[in-house]
Amino acid sequence: MTRSLQLLAPAEHNQASPAQPAAHRGRFAPSPTGPLHFGSLLAAVASYAQAKSNQAEWLVRIEDIDPPREQPGSDQLILRALEAYGFEWDGPVTYQSTLTERHESAVAELLEAGFAYPCGCSRRDLVDVPRGPLGAIYPGTCRMGCSAPETAIRLRTNDAPITFTDALQGAQTQHLESESGDFIIKRRDGLIAYHLAAVVDDHDQGIGEIVRGIDLIDSTPRHVWIQRALNMPIPAYMHIPVAVNEYGQKLSKLTGAAPISEANTGATLYRALSALRQAPPASLDGADPADIWRWVLPHWRPDVLQGLQDIPPCHYDFG
Ligand SMILES: [Zn+2]
Repeated sequence: MTRSLQLLAPAEHNQASPAQPAAHRGRFAPSPTGPLHFGSLLAAVASYAQAKSNQAEWLVRIEDIDPPREQPGSDQLILRALEAYGFEWDGPVTYQSTLTERHESAVAELLEAGFAYPCGCSRRDLVDVPRGPLGAIYPGTCRMGCSAPETAIRLRTNDAPITFTDALQGAQTQHLESESGDFIIKRRDGLIAYHLAAVVDDHDQGIGEIVRGIDLIDSTPRHVWIQRALNMPIPAYMHIPVAVNEYGQKLSKLTGAAPISEANTGATLYRALSALRQAPPASLDGADPADIWRWVLPHWRPDVLQGLQDIPPCHYDFG
């Protein structure tokens, strides 16, 4: 039957120290839901600068495992924009959709170990459950078994605190059982959940430090939980502040963020660096991206972003 969750007890020994130099890989992992906008450019710039200034490789992975949300052709738009902005990735671009077999085997491993179980609850079954900041808190209805013909797969949680230390945002703690409940790693429609796929691919690709927007920091304890369940080392994390619009909403496709221009890449890259508080010299405003990168890599100082969560328009919209 179910293996004891004690096996998932804290594993601080494999927590990478955020202070360690990143002699490993970094990555940028966009979903092809539309062209690159200024918000996603910041994540690309920060992850690239952090990897390259530490002599680490930087990979690009297209997270195309949620076809209903995707926009055909946006992978090409994203890659073309990255190229125009002077990013140089190592190795071939990976498409997450080609790794489904590996994701399925991770789900099978978790089922086999009793860490995961089938859940037949529909959205309607869960309308009345309590909600927390992460959404509906799954009450564990199917933990003891479920006879529904179509099921999602959930990962069991417990309420021991999950902690990790973010390089910019400091110590983070979450109690998964009471804050999210057992969460979905494979959806009822058969698609692999983002959390599972991202964790497995980061591990398999040897990503030692994950640099991404702070909007994902609440997901990270679930990622640490998956890493522990699959006996994977815990990478270092750096969650950077996200650009917000005049209403304080994160720039995204949903809030109508415009695609970044490929016409004046030097000016936009300069704005991105200003938004990230890198204080680039004014002479680089509008310069060739290659010249801008030559300045950035020896000058990259992520610590100036310590504790910052939002980047309001006054820091990037020089209109
Ligand atoms: Zn259920």
